[in-house]
Amino acid sequence: AGSGKFFVGGNWKCNGTKDSISKLVSDLNNAQLESDVVHLNKNKNILYLLPQMLMQESAFGKFPDVVVAPPFLYIDQVKNSLTDRIEVSAQNCWTGKGGAFTGEISVEQVKDLGCKWVILGHSERRHVIGENDEFIGKKAAYALSQGVGVIACIGELLQEREAGKTFDVCFQQLKAFAGRQNVENLSSQLVGYYFTLLVEDSIPTYAIPSWDNVVIAYEPVWAIGTGKVASPEQAQEVHVAVRDWLTKNVSAEVASKTRIIYGGSVNGSNSSDLAKKEDIDGFLVGGASLKGPEFATIVNSVT
Ligand code: PEP
Repeated sequence: AGSGKFFVGGNWKCNGTKDSISKLVSDLNNAQLESDVVHLNKNKNILYLLPQMLMQESAFGKFPDVVVAPPFLYIDQVKNSLTDRIEVSAQNCWTGKGGAFTGEISVEQVKDLGCKWVILGHSERRHVIGENDEFIGKKAAYALSQGVGVIACIGELLQEREAGKTFDVCFQQLKAFAGRQNVENLSSQLVGYYFTLLVEDSIPTYAIPSWDNVVIAYEPVWAIGTGKVASPEQAQEVHVAVRDWLTKNVSAEVASKTRIIYGGSVNGSNSSDLAKKEDIDGFLVGGASLKGPEFATIVNSVT
């Protein structure tokens, strides 16, 4: 598949109790991830280890980043009990520094609990909770400025796909993640200066500081939680378009380095076919990530 290291995320959404999460963590800790072969060998003595390392050196880069996103309330429990082979992500965060924002969770707090990532722009936050592009973009810019990586979700509704608007919707959402400065060059900013003054309120005034810590998750809304997975060809087509958009609007370097992962009814039986596609760099998994052994099967299907 595509550029760099694979990335597999598990989005637990608003599921679980202390007990069920403790069972899920123990299943994940006991699951055999392909990379454990090297991890186990690391505990053995150097004479044993050296030839193994030499043989497997080229494989090191292939081991995926594996991340799970528990509900906020259980992040600490998970952080304290989960193998450190798996990173922890938040499922949301506030747009700026914490303070008088009842019910919100700040990036500083997410970081304090040891989260390296935050999922932003998930379709449930867009379409159920009602978050808009600019609000999501601001959160992404702030999280990145504080050193927390962003799993940036984009994706079209079924009616948008049927109306032939898939690319337009995804590009619009990408543009909002990027913020104004990343997608407009200086001359167009100058030309658009007076126009900008007129419509200032409708133009994002933030910009993400860097794409280094961004993973883009293409998640067609019609495939999320429905059991209707996109075909590898459908997913690949959009991933190529997203990479092209990055080339044209950000840079060729960012386009080749940024991981574009697929989400939407991924399970242990369909993941390996999807992972064979050139531009699919991993997965964001919902339902199937609540089953430890199946999530491990998905992780192992990309190695
Ligand atoms: C998700 O919520 O990000 C997701 C992809 O869910 P599911 O795998 O259940 O479709």
